[in-house]
Amino acid sequence: MQLVDGRWRISGHDVEALSEQHGTPLYIYDSQVIRRQVNRFQEAFSSFDHRIYYAMKANSNPDLLRLMKELGLGIDAVSIYEIRIALDAGFEARDIIFTPNGVPFDELEQAIELGTRLNIENLSYLDQLGEAYRGDVPCTLRIHPGHVISTANHDTEGWYQRSRFGIDGDQIPEALRLIQMHQIRVEGLHVHSSSMILDEQVFGSAAEVLLNLARQLPDVRAIDLGGGIRPPYREQDDHPDLDLLSRSLTKPLDQFERDTGRKVQLWFEPGRYLVAECGTLLTRVHVLKQVGGRTVAGVDTGFHQLIRPKLYNAWHEIRNISNPEGSQHLIDISGCLCEEDDLARQRSLPEVREGHLLAILNAGAYGYSMASTYNSRPLPTEVVL
Ligand SMILES: *Cc1c(COP(=O)(O)O)cnc(C)c1O
Repeated sequence: MQLVDGRWRISGHDVEALSEQHGTPLYIYDSQVIRRQVNRFQEAFSSFDHRIYYAMKANSNPDLLRLMKELGLGIDAVSIYEIRIALDAGFEARDIIFTPNGVPFDELEQAIELGTRLNIENLSYLDQLGEAYRGDVPCTLRIHPGHVISTANHDTEGWYQRSRFGIDGDQIPEALRLIQMHQIRVEGLHVHSSSMILDEQVFGSAAEVLLNLARQLPDVRAIDLGGGIRPPYREQDDHPDLDLLSRSLTKPLDQFERDTGRKVQLWFEPGRYLVAECGTLLTRVHVLKQVGGRTVAGVDTGFHQLIRPKLYNAWHEIRNISNPEGSQHLIDISGCLCEEDDLARQRSLPEVREGHLLAILNAGAYGYSMASTYNSRPLPTEVVL
């Protein structure tokens, strides 16, 4: 978003005019930002044979999906419904990886019928898959991050240990027994960190553990390192350097190739990294009031449309579009739901008045896709520039 002649613009579009044309609350996605992020990701890993599967749960807007398709990405899907949306957007089934947890096996059968790839995260699915299809349906195996990822940062290590996703390190012998018994073709090994990558050694150390396991699985031809890379939400945010993450992969991959004569492709499943920064949520201030010595702006969006501040205590930058050069005042921004609904507390913003338009930045990932109709409010409009 740029300030040009006193007016905020997104990719050349006047933000106030967009809000008048489409009404508020309004999600705006800037496709140029997505192209930039896809480019950055591809460039960082360009020295490896790699594929990107966009994790569509971050934002499943059909126009964004078509853009991802145009940019040559595949899809990481977590439900049969996401698979259908991706197929409708033009993806080939074989370019979709399905990673289900806790869903009935019937959902896996539907995905197999459609021809998607399958990422298996527990022994029960592995056994059922083997029983039903023997060697006919290949899969990748999702390994528990606590087994795969080691990091110098003990806090995040606790996070990896607590994850409930993937096959536990202790269960790998049993997984190998099932694979052998049912003659299952395991074509890849997967780990997803669950959105907390801060340490640039994470990919390298994960690849090392997965490649060691791959020595026992001759059909493995891909190592899938999942998602979990976050762009900075504000300048001082700690975020990993993609080039360092990439460099950490060279040694384990070279070693594996030298020892086994086999080559593996790298797969990635970024969600947030590709779409967080493309999105802006526009909302209008309808009520300004004083409560307990604080000034509160009541706006026409809330946690039904952006739950991250409420659920994760996430910080989103907010701009007053209507008064770019006003003097700074501290203000709380409160959503319109009948429930505590703080979008921001004690923010310094150019003076806010009733009728002003506010922009909540970096709302492209896990915004609309986590929206609900709580308070019986309709879902907001989305516009892709
Ligand atoms: C959510 C998810 C991702 C994407 O995570 P981001 O933090 O958005 O990059 C990737 N893979 C799987 C299996 C996921 O569940």
